[in-house]
Amino acid sequence: MIKNSVTLDMPSQVLARKGGLHYDALMTRPSLGLRIGEGVVMARRKKIYEGKAKILYEGPEPGTLVQYFKDDATAFNAEKKDIIEGKGVLNNRLCEFFMMGLTQIGIPTHFIKRLNMREQLIRQVEIVPLEVIVRNIAAGTMAKRMGMEEGTPLPRPIVEFSYKDDSLGDPLVPEEYIIAFGWASQQDMDDIVSLALRVNDWMSGVMFGVGIKLVDFKIEVGRVWDNEFPRLILADEISPDSCRLWDIETGQKLDKDVFRRDLGSLSDAYTEVARRLGVMPSNVTHRPAKPTLIN
Ligand code: C5P
Repeated sequence: MIKNSVTLDMPSQVLARKGGLHYDALMTRPSLGLRIGEGVVMARRKKIYEGKAKILYEGPEPGTLVQYFKDDATAFNAEKKDIIEGKGVLNNRLCEFFMMGLTQIGIPTHFIKRLNMREQLIRQVEIVPLEVIVRNIAAGTMAKRMGMEEGTPLPRPIVEFSYKDDSLGDPLVPEEYIIAFGWASQQDMDDIVSLALRVNDWMSGVMFGVGIKLVDFKIEVGRVWDNEFPRLILADEISPDSCRLWDIETGQKLDKDVFRRDLGSLSDAYTEVARRLGVMPSNVTHRPAKPTLIN
């Protein structure tokens, strides 16, 4: 029921378009044990899980995984799909930036290091099957559910939970369900709320510093075992795919709503976030559509 099925049937021409040749091509052409061409000889790696925007591969050490960022964009439980060239590269960088910043203020995360343009090394965790959403301003499903105008500031940050299950459409669930069904304990929930609010404080400040309002975001949490002791850490990703980001001056949307609502170029929006945060990758495939005049 939970999203953990492994998809291995992606056509190679799609992979080629996505620039994701290294491991994907090997997976779809099992006879190839090596890929030579960039002067690199790469061993075949085991795919552990493929989601809508990322793939997880077995890592180099036990307890590690390699997280690969795809260019695929999906919305409305994958009813709307497209390939946005360069999105994976931007999200890999932005996710690295957020995870490293959070680590620096003492928030435990699964992030170990960025490996290349599209991949990062992460700790393997047992994912708690929840989407933890923090909202500062009413938008999206909350605005719709509550009949609120998008953009209404909330009296305090609100943390809510959805059960991760695509077949049910990730339904909103109360804490009672979470504890009763054993997805997390009461102590876990207290830790998750406290972690989510710390992430919100740091992220809001960082985004405010570059003229962006953090409207809301989603995180996921995973359990790791240090000796006998379980510990919850931040997992999955933080990127404009999982946040709502509005320009403070103009209200312009700089997140996945650009794709969900057909508001223009998603690459331009993510590139703008990366540029403002100073994490613009030098060789990202995306180029601005128009020449820019410099005064
Ligand atoms: O759609 P909704 O308003 O509930 O989304 C709240 C926040 O959580 C948004 O920033 C959205 O991008 C993020 N989210 C996500 N993945 C989901 C659902 C929501 O990243 N499956």
